Amino acid sequence: MKCDLCMDRIDAGLKPACVTGCTTHALSLVGQDDPRYAEQRQRAPQRPVAER
Ligand code: SF4
Repeated sequence: MKCDLCMDRIDAGLKPACVTGCTTHALSLVGQDDPRYAEQRQRAPQRPVAER
């Protein structure tokens, strides 16, 4: 199943299920207009390239 970012939950004003369910708070959802966005983008590793 491909991730759809829990669009039904986002439309209902909720966070994605994996963000809500992460007991160590390792996941977060930050909008591009949030001041934390640039910081989190810098800390994020390069997007892995899928091998075919
Ligand atoms: S729970 Fe997380 S990984 Fe699964 S569809 Fe929702 S946003 Fe994507």
